[in-house]
Amino acid sequence: MIVAQQKPLEDIRQMARGFRRLLVLGCGTCTTVCFAGGEKEVGLLATSLRSALGQEIEIEEAVVQRQCEWEFLDQVGEAVGRAEAVLSLGCGVGVQGIGERYPGVVVLPGLNTTFMGLTEAPGIWEERCMACGDCLLHRTGGICPVARCAKSLLNGPCGGPQDGHCEISPENPCAWVLIYDRLMQQGRVEQLEEIIPVRDWKASHSGGPRRIVRPDLREMVEEEV
Ligand code: SF4
Ligand code: SF4
Repeated sequence: MIVAQQKPLEDIRQMARGFRRLLVLGCGTCTTVCFAGGEKEVGLLATSLRSALGQEIEIEEAVVQRQCEWEFLDQVGEAVGRAEAVLSLGCGVGVQGIGERYPGVVVLPGLNTTFMGLTEAPGIWEERCMACGDCLLHRTGGICPVARCAKSLLNGPCGGPQDGHCEISPENPCAWVLIYDRLMQQGRVEQLEEIIPVRDWKASHSGGPRRIVRPDLREMVEEEV
């Protein structure tokens, strides 16, 4: 899931200052699961802003199931219409989705969208994927060196791991030690002898914004219309 965290209240207060009608809009999927943008967080943030900004501002609250899909954003059209600004507690995709659906309203990002991660344990999330566009997990024992090696190395570790930990961030395990251990456990360590060729990073964000078009789905939709 996409993991995000709320911006400091003071930053949000500064962004919201000057608007008279604000809609605090949560997202019912990823940012609810990581306790950054669900119904409870919308309520708490709206209350804090009311007491921080006082009479200056009228605050409405709403949550949609996903801010990244038009059908859900359409459900809050009236509330958005009443607002001068929407404070989104969705990820950056949600913020931009609101802006595209309702170009006349100012959208403020209430969260810092941080990474795609796993819930390691309650209250602990860790990055697992950088959406590189050319997944190689079948070659690395299911552990991602792009996201989990500080240098995104593709063919084994740098010279720096110490006691199984990364030289850049000693609090993290070295991704390549994890990969080696996993492949050993699976009896597939010979997999490491296969060199992963230099990648074409165009499939990653280095090629600019990416787009997926599924002609089969487009045809189905067009037939239904
Ligand atoms: S190889 Fe790419 S797509 Fe696969 S998990 Fe890593 S970053 Fe994500
Ligand atoms: S120590 Fe391991 S994880 Fe850290 S940069 Fe080197 S290879 Fe990557």
